[in-house]
Amino acid sequence: MDYFDTNLFRQQGRELIDLLTEFLQQSSGNAKTPPAEQVLKFRNEDDVYAAWKSARPGETPLSDVFRQVFRQSIRLHHPRFLGHQISPPAVVSALSGLVADVLNNGMGVYEMGMAGTALERVVVEMVAEQFGMGNSAGGFLTSGGSLGNLTALLCARNSKIPEIAIDGHAGPLPAVLVSGQAHYCVQRAATIMGWGKGGIVTVPANQRFQMDVAQLPGRLKQAQEDNRKVIAVIGSACSTATGAYDDLKAIGEFCQANDLWFHVDGAHGAAAAFSGKYRSLVDGIEMADSVVMDFHKLLLTPALTTAVVFRNGRDAYRTFSQKADYLFQEDEHDTQWHNIALRSFECTKLMMSLKVFSILAQHGFQAWDQNVTRLYDLARTLARLGSERKDVEVLVEPESSIVCYRYLPADQSASNRVNAKIRERLLQAGRFYIVQTVIDGVHWLRTTVGSVNTTEHELNELLSEVVALGRELEGE
Ligand SMILES: *Cc1c(COP(=O)(O)O)cnc(C)c1O
Repeated sequence: MDYFDTNLFRQQGRELIDLLTEFLQQSSGNAKTPPAEQVLKFRNEDDVYAAWKSARPGETPLSDVFRQVFRQSIRLHHPRFLGHQISPPAVVSALSGLVADVLNNGMGVYEMGMAGTALERVVVEMVAEQFGMGNSAGGFLTSGGSLGNLTALLCARNSKIPEIAIDGHAGPLPAVLVSGQAHYCVQRAATIMGWGKGGIVTVPANQRFQMDVAQLPGRLKQAQEDNRKVIAVIGSACSTATGAYDDLKAIGEFCQANDLWFHVDGAHGAAAAFSGKYRSLVDGIEMADSVVMDFHKLLLTPALTTAVVFRNGRDAYRTFSQKADYLFQEDEHDTQWHNIALRSFECTKLMMSLKVFSILAQHGFQAWDQNVTRLYDLARTLARLGSERKDVEVLVEPESSIVCYRYLPADQSASNRVNAKIRERLLQAGRFYIVQTVIDGVHWLRTTVGSVNTTEHELNELLSEVVALGRELEGE
């Protein structure tokens, strides 16, 4: 059977590596020699669907399939990829993905992935150490920040209301305190757990879009008066829309004083812990009971690769345990760590740990330090360049790699229309890829600096293009 022909594997593998090398080369470039290809060739969804619908099974050469995929795919390595938060993967990490797929060790039980399982523990412990969490920390890898946050919040619930995992219901409904700037997956987690509308108690943000921690006591009191059992506070590090870091230390101290679980949604920005220059943004993360961090946002790893880290590694076993507290095996952590499915949603799971470990093996922590530092520096550069232009407004001085800004038309009332149009035109033209966000009814253009090839040059060009489009569109 052809499916397992090792000669075919070698031959197609070599061809594929050549194709991918070409793809990467065409995506890379600089001011002197710009990339051969655009960041994106946008085509509408029905056209792309129709193109695939007409392909004939069994009669389509694989190289044609791949080339078509390349044509219809956004290029994350491109210097003008300035949109969503996902990272261009380091070469070693992407190749590790191939290893994981060929071996297909499912990790559902230990012997189905011994290397992957042990590496996972090593990787999580290294992350916990970087957070400053101490020796009792532990955790696992899972498929994305959204799932990671749900898992951690389930754990928070079961820790603070152990009866709920056994009887299903126990007294007042749970709730968590979180900034209005939090990622929507937090709301979803509360919905999945059946907490209803009041399950999320919003703490307003300050002018820098950080949680206004002074309002925590009042919100807690109010929620309790509304007959809610508040179990946790969630800090965003950083928020998705504007990239603002909540004051983790203040939240941590509030949680300690009020016996609340402290969860940090660090899907994007917990990685700042690896940057010597920006580490202080996550000061207080060491106090968290749980932290979620995506490797696929700032740490050069293919998606999805997410760490769920617990300050007390034993806590993680509570998530899916239906044992009463007095039956809870405190030593489970020491004896069962190799059966990861006890703690994670996944049963069969991809060997994600190798994608992370390969980067460290080849480049060391320095790779992450440099990447985070460089991208955070560039975001500050973009904000500075924007502020220097009189017809551009920068929403707020960036804290992370995320920057929001807009074109200021002469007629202010046209701003939303013009900026939405600017983003649409950019998408259609495919010279730059940026996204947008709406905050308090105002449209902002949003950039996450993520590509390995982006420099000040492209950021300047982007702003020139935004302004040129803005001038053209405000007249329409
Ligand atoms: C990206 C992000 C998420 C979602 O993570 P996925 O890996 O996309 O599921 C959650 N929270 C924050 C703050 C994020 O930036």
